[in-house]
Amino acid sequence: MDHALPDTLPVPWPDGGAHPPAATVAALERAATVLRGGGLVAVPTETVYGLAALALDEAAVARIFTAKGRPASNPLIVHVADTAMARSLAAAWPDAAERLAAALWPGPVTVVVPRAAAVPDLVTAGGATVALRCPAHPVIRRLIAMVGAPLAAPSANRSLRLSPTTAGHVFESLGARVDLILDGGPCSAGIESTVVDCTAAEPVVLRPGPVAAATLATLLGHPVAAAGDRAGVARSPGQLRRHYAPRTPLEVAADAPRVVRRAIRAGKRVGWLCLTPDAPATRAVAGSTEAVVVPMPAVPQEYGARLYALLHALDRRSLDLIVADAPPAEAAWDAIRDRLTRASSPDETGDADGTAP
Ligand code: AMP
Ligand code: MG
Repeated sequence: MDHALPDTLPVPWPDGGAHPPAATVAALERAATVLRGGGLVAVPTETVYGLAALALDEAAVARIFTAKGRPASNPLIVHVADTAMARSLAAAWPDAAERLAAALWPGPVTVVVPRAAAVPDLVTAGGATVALRCPAHPVIRRLIAMVGAPLAAPSANRSLRLSPTTAGHVFESLGARVDLILDGGPCSAGIESTVVDCTAAEPVVLRPGPVAAATLATLLGHPVAAAGDRAGVARSPGQLRRHYAPRTPLEVAADAPRVVRRAIRAGKRVGWLCLTPDAPATRAVAGSTEAVVVPMPAVPQEYGARLYALLHALDRRSLDLIVADAPPAEAAWDAIRDRLTRASSPDETGDADGTAP
């Protein structure tokens, strides 16, 4: 791998249609060449930026793990052009996978299915299943089509850190560890895909995400349990309690105004992801020079689209604490609650900032 800083190539695609600007096609051709040579390309998707490599090339996949500092126990999602490519990587194609793919692909849902022999062990962390997604973003879609092969692509950040939702975030996190960055602007969903295990008789949500449990239930014809809700149902391998974390300590609080006031009194500089910007208790601290109050949208999709970019921005301000209002106790907020909970969990590894070489 090249140790120079990577080029960042803009890949504007104004209408998402069949004919992107010539410069976008040229950038994609360069990216396809890097990938065919076994290199790593950071690429926008509708969820977060992915760190892509040829999924069926074990040496290329190994570079992903090295670049991220990702433990080999954490399997990768393989990105495909369509259901036919997905099925070529699966030993069986359960009915639930077919229903979800038919209704939601291309889009931000990942299905876990029995793996085909062609999928390298490294991709599946040695497991018997493989996670597959057909993304909607035109840039990664065209890239998969140009390469003509599936791309393994976890989030393009150092392991355990915040996922990137802009090309700048990728550059800051991975620098020379990536060969090329495609800049497609900010990601629209802004949080990682919904992951559904389709190998069990009753599918299970392994990771909540942009596609809500209610949508899955409608498509599958029954309620869909979340891993952890049911005794004996394992979570995804590699999913640590602490994940998606900023460097600044984060606290999720049901009584955020009190937590913020207390921190200010203790001499701390505080950021507040605030769901009640107009409440009197908020106004009372908003004027303080010790507090950065960030009004958050009361719609989960809009909240998710901004969350990581705001955490990245707050992280740069050297605050002592970030406080987030606990999201409403509704299923529509499951994915946001999951990401905030993980980001505020204590470090289990002793290497929370992932900066070890
Ligand atoms: P990332 O691409 O960084 O968002 O991480 C992908 C996540 O998908 C992993 O952390 C796993 O939790 C999940 N995943 C990937 N492959 C599998 C699999 N075969 N079975 C269950 N979960 C998986
Ligand atoms: Mg990740």
